[in-house]
Amino acid sequence: MSDCCSAPGLKPFEDALAQMLAEIKPVSECESINIETALDRVLSEDIYSPINVPPHNNSAMDGYAFRIADRANTERLTLVGRSMAGQPFTGSCGKNECVRIMTGAKMPADCDTVEMQENCQVEGDTVHFLSLRKEGDNVRCAGEDIAKGHLLFAKGRKLSTIDIGMLASLGVATVTVVRKLKVALIATGDELKQPGMALTDGDIFESNSHTLSGMLQRLNVDVINFGIIEDDKAAIQAAFEQADKNADAVISSGGVSVGDADYTKEVLDELGEIGFWKIAMKPGKPFAFGKLPNSYFFGLPGNPVSAVVTAHLLAIPALIKMQNCHDYQPVKLKVKTETALKKGPGRMDFQRGVLSVNPQGETVVHSTGSQGSGILSSMAIANCYIVLPACQGKVCAGEMVDVQLFDHYLR
Ligand code: AMP
Ligand code: MG
Repeated sequence: MSDCCSAPGLKPFEDALAQMLAEIKPVSECESINIETALDRVLSEDIYSPINVPPHNNSAMDGYAFRIADRANTERLTLVGRSMAGQPFTGSCGKNECVRIMTGAKMPADCDTVEMQENCQVEGDTVHFLSLRKEGDNVRCAGEDIAKGHLLFAKGRKLSTIDIGMLASLGVATVTVVRKLKVALIATGDELKQPGMALTDGDIFESNSHTLSGMLQRLNVDVINFGIIEDDKAAIQAAFEQADKNADAVISSGGVSVGDADYTKEVLDELGEIGFWKIAMKPGKPFAFGKLPNSYFFGLPGNPVSAVVTAHLLAIPALIKMQNCHDYQPVKLKVKTETALKKGPGRMDFQRGVLSVNPQGETVVHSTGSQGSGILSSMAIANCYIVLPACQGKVCAGEMVDVQLFDHYLR
């Protein structure tokens, strides 16, 4: 029985994604690398802090370190030495004594508080304190940023620029990460020419491998680009076999429909176990996912918008799972649409939208206009998907809709 929410023969988007993720096994090999090359790599170990950060109590100000108990009796303390960053005071600071101290310098063992120099008057060896303090003022305590033994990063974390700085601040020079994935890209189509070549009658420029290659660079995988393969069964078979031998994942575009020159399904059926799916999503109905002898296979539709959207919403999450990465969370919001949106029930729409703040200060979205699956410029203008569930019919201006922000895979 089909209702308005299910299109006969089409697999709901969420089911396709969940089934695919359930079938994928992450790569198990890892390697130890220097933090200098660890940006955007996925940790395969938990990182516990080996030290306190900061490692010692230190001053947050340029000023004078003293004992709060002494200040109850006197406003004048005797200067007995100084503590500089990297050159701590090694003597003792006795009753009614103080130590000149600079920002970041280690606190003398006998002192508990710092007064900033602006609140002090110095005459020879005597420091006159002009304001009152609480114990611990202007002191940064050992371990207040990170305590020794604290779980800093769990395995599965993709290391960011800040993460690398944090690791450095702990003195961690090497980390164990998941090995880099190798991903093969194949564009199929007799009509395709690489940019820079001359177009002959009926040709178009090949763009899918270029957008996909950019997305894969953001994912920090090694891309093996097979370029354009003609619509010839033997050529496609040879390319898929070669790609499977050399890569962990193979991504093709084009030829997944059921036209006269669409060989992807036929070839894949012979080479591996392929789930060939018609997904209830728009753009991007035909999509193949499966297992080749050595790799996972993702067969994207040829239309440039469909290829990008299925790569972004299906293949990228699958590759993230292969990397054993656990921290991918697309940002989703509910906002008002300023434009009416055309939609028929049956498939889940990922329309292209522009999220902005209107003059009243509300966050709103509007459509990029024509939503054809060949209109790549709609993706370039957009900064989000307007996600409309399968059941949804047309939407009027002013209604609330779900949006998913474009992330760094697309921008
Ligand atoms: P197909 O899925 O092979 O039937 O292709 C659907 C549409 O996408 C056709 O108009 C193709 O010309 C176009 N197309 C296929 N592959 C690419 C590509 N790599 N770059 C740009 N357009 C493509
Ligand atoms: Mg084709």
